[in-house]
Amino acid sequence: MNKGTPRREFLGALAAFSLFPLEQEKPDLILYNGNILTVNERQPHAEAVAVRRDRFLAVGSNSDVLNLSSAASKKIDLGGKTVTPGFIDAHSHPAEAGLMHLRMVDCDLRSISAIQAALRERATKTPAGEWVLGFKYDDTKTDEGRPLTVADLDAAVPDHPVHIEHRGGHTTYSNSPAFRMAGIDEKTPDPPGGKIDRDPATGKLTGRVAESANDFFDKAIPLQFTRDDHREGVKLISKMLARTGITSATEAQGTPTDLLAYQDAHESGDLLYRAYCFINFHFLDAMIAAGNRTGLGDEWVRIGAVKLVCDGSISERTARLSTPYEGRPNDYGILVMTEEELYTLGRKAHLAGWQIGTHANGDVAIDTTLRVYERLQKEHPRRDPRFRLEHCTVVNDSLIARIKALGAIPTPFSTYVYYHGEKMRFYGAERLNHMFALRSFIDAGIRPTQASDYPPGEFIPMMALQSEVTRTDMKGSVWGPKQRITVKEAVRVGTLNGAYASYEENLKGSIEVGKLADLVVLGRDPLEENPSTLVTIPVERTMAGGRWTFES
Ligand SMILES: [Zn+2]
Repeated sequence: MNKGTPRREFLGALAAFSLFPLEQEKPDLILYNGNILTVNERQPHAEAVAVRRDRFLAVGSNSDVLNLSSAASKKIDLGGKTVTPGFIDAHSHPAEAGLMHLRMVDCDLRSISAIQAALRERATKTPAGEWVLGFKYDDTKTDEGRPLTVADLDAAVPDHPVHIEHRGGHTTYSNSPAFRMAGIDEKTPDPPGGKIDRDPATGKLTGRVAESANDFFDKAIPLQFTRDDHREGVKLISKMLARTGITSATEAQGTPTDLLAYQDAHESGDLLYRAYCFINFHFLDAMIAAGNRTGLGDEWVRIGAVKLVCDGSISERTARLSTPYEGRPNDYGILVMTEEELYTLGRKAHLAGWQIGTHANGDVAIDTTLRVYERLQKEHPRRDPRFRLEHCTVVNDSLIARIKALGAIPTPFSTYVYYHGEKMRFYGAERLNHMFALRSFIDAGIRPTQASDYPPGEFIPMMALQSEVTRTDMKGSVWGPKQRITVKEAVRVGTLNGAYASYEENLKGSIEVGKLADLVVLGRDPLEENPSTLVTIPVERTMAGGRWTFES
């Protein structure tokens, strides 16, 4: 060491050295008597693990691992319980969802009367004249079999403005005071790219507005979040994710504000999952100017890909398809960015060393996005760009061959078949055999991930397993059985493949010596479970970085 070495560097060097000879390290914690599914091909199964600080120190048989213990090592008998690596949700919107859970009424309820009761309850706690806001409403999931109306909402809450977002995020439902405050009446014309629904017989407002007509409400609702609110939102969603076994999530439409919220939550000890924070393309120039790019950060908060958007949504039937929606012969969905726009933004990001994640659901959108990626790689070859296709829902053989050739990563919806079965009929049985195409991806040597897109989709990993393995919805209808995968494959998709999608396969995603100690203790073994009850397997404990983030 040089004489002039500052003290901090000296201590840092000592710390690095002390980690090197693993045999001198004693475990802080040993979990033994487990059925440990490691997702490590060289050692697929183990009975015990030792954890030191935030990493796995040893993985092996009970006797091998227990032999490492010292008086200070805490030991937990797993009683034969199954352990998997922590699950990685490779596409969701947790920071935004956390804020919504903090401030809004969760309208994911099975009847209009239950939604009315929830709104009424919130209204009694809301000062006069202030907005009552709701989210996660789904018109296809209530017992009444009809959408909410302005009359339903007026009856529930007559004297506060009420405004509810559909789960898919493109349509909203409001009561009469809300329309008044937004400046909308029966004579207000539809704005370009938007619709204010009216009863065809009477011309009266129905309560529903779509797409750009939501701007009226966005302007009228004073929804401002403080820095503390953002941190609280992350804290709230952290607990929700941890109790299902999630230890990492991609923030799929992140902003610099989200990065700050994650850093704040991490510093206050409230961040319970590792965040790979995509950056919305609106911020790309500012981020590049500041010298930031994909990968900056640490294992808790890291800058992810830049997010681009090519087409519409699956749940609200606006994805851009090559053949029309069932029963709507002229409806092919929509492209929201042109190929040239995608190329211009993509080139800027690609040259600056960013990973690119483009929302592409329909086969036309995937074809367009792949063409942009292929062109970027041809004009400016980069080693290992790991282009991502967010959702990548409807595919065919030639698209799959191009995805493989490019080394691109699809992040298909994991829980849609099970949870959104009633929307599958818009796509038809034949097309469903080419949607959420895990079997085809895996057979082609591609590494698809588990991805919820929460709030639009559910994030429970055991539900993802059931959906992917059975391709059966809650009511028992089967959608696209050709794309079934095995439980073992589904676990790998939900763990190691997710780590690969964020360049972190050497850091997490499997239970291996030296990797981050992220794991889940399950109440039953998914490999032994009847596939139709996988969703009922309880999560007993979740660990991230050697710390229990959830204990039942
Ligand atoms: Zn999304």
